[in-house]
Amino acid sequence: MSRRVLILLGPPGAGKGTQASRLCAELGLPHVSTGDLFRAHRAQGTDLGRRAQEFMDSGRLVPDDLVLDMLFERVAQPDCVRGFLLDGFPRTLPQAEALEKRLPTGTAVRVLDLRVADAALLERLTGRRTCRQCGNIHHVQNSPPKIAGRCDRCGGELYTRSDDEAATVAKRLAVYREQTQPLQGWYARKGLLSEVDGERAPDEVFRSLRTAAAGMEAA
Ligand SMILES: [Zn+2]
Repeated sequence: MSRRVLILLGPPGAGKGTQASRLCAELGLPHVSTGDLFRAHRAQGTDLGRRAQEFMDSGRLVPDDLVLDMLFERVAQPDCVRGFLLDGFPRTLPQAEALEKRLPTGTAVRVLDLRVADAALLERLTGRRTCRQCGNIHHVQNSPPKIAGRCDRCGGELYTRSDDEAATVAKRLAVYREQTQPLQGWYARKGLLSEVDGERAPDEVFRSLRTAAAGMEAA
């Protein structure tokens, strides 16, 4: 059986993290998040981690090749022999092209594209309220606290993290639309893209993702 690689695309607030964990559990594939890899390398002070840190300290972007080195070191481990789910990469067209060059021929790639309109993302993200004391997260519509402004778990004060403020959210979405959205067309032209409506209930979204991922098994 050839190795399969699932790539999860979707804007911030689309629910990628939760869906990725569920998909990996269901399919028995490791969840490879480049963000997590990066943090682990930095924490362990590896050579790759130190090199990445130097770029960040000098205010430069970490080069794609360095991220790919981390990625391919990770997926060379035995648990990835049947495949893996890739989260957080690629985010730009040059990254997608570099990834394609480094994946061995015969790798079965399927890209799952979680689609959520900006209006829904703004509502989801700007409604989040975080507890100053315990980090618990409420949402003004989806999980409002019993007492306004107070955490249900510990009674601490709820506030809006700067990441969740409207202007910041709008900027993150604009970056996604400009840099990452072009990947949809690029993967679609290669016949690798499955679109999934991410505005439905999480269980329904999960079933669609599972079906799309299973489609590649039969192929
Ligand atoms: Zn709390």
